[in-house]
Amino acid sequence: MKTAIFPGTFDPFTLGHASIVSRGLSLFDHIIIAIGVNSAKQTMFTLDERIIQIRACYLDEPHVEVSSYEGLTVDFAKSQGADFILRGIRSLYDFEYERLLSDVNHKISDIETICLFAEPDYSSIQSNVIRELLNYKQDVGAFVPPAILELLKKQS
Ligand code: ADP
Repeated sequence: MKTAIFPGTFDPFTLGHASIVSRGLSLFDHIIIAIGVNSAKQTMFTLDERIIQIRACYLDEPHVEVSSYEGLTVDFAKSQGADFILRGIRSLYDFEYERLLSDVNHKISDIETICLFAEPDYSSIQSNVIRELLNYKQDVGAFVPPAILELLKKQS
């Protein structure tokens, strides 16, 4: 079975992230969406909130799991029996960052990173922009999966 982890902060999970997961499912049998926990990094949504939000998007998808981890991403991948890290690239800026991460991860492990280019419709979607819109009580329906929009509406 081919398993990949899709690591990120997902603060919040967006339509862009969801697109990477759904396209990743044509490459992998199982995808673990892995929320990286960095206690030094402030987030808008708590870890529990992000887990609930992302799980709500995949209630009917047995090939997608949601988990969290601390420490090195490659160590978490190995602990899950995953040989691949799935990532997304929206721009040149992402490209350089992902290239560097992939290179380092490959030097310290035998985990391969597979990057998918963002779909043009989603390449401008960034979690930080969504956070800014939410701070100003704007509608974010064009940027997050419907299940997450529902949860956000219940909270407000
Ligand atoms: P990180 O803090 O690790 O960058 P993110 O949650 O911002 O975590 O992103 C996780 C992964 O998803 C990264 O590879 C990022 O480039 C990718 N990604 C983020 N937004 C999009 C998008 N709109 N389309 C495609 N990939 C995306």
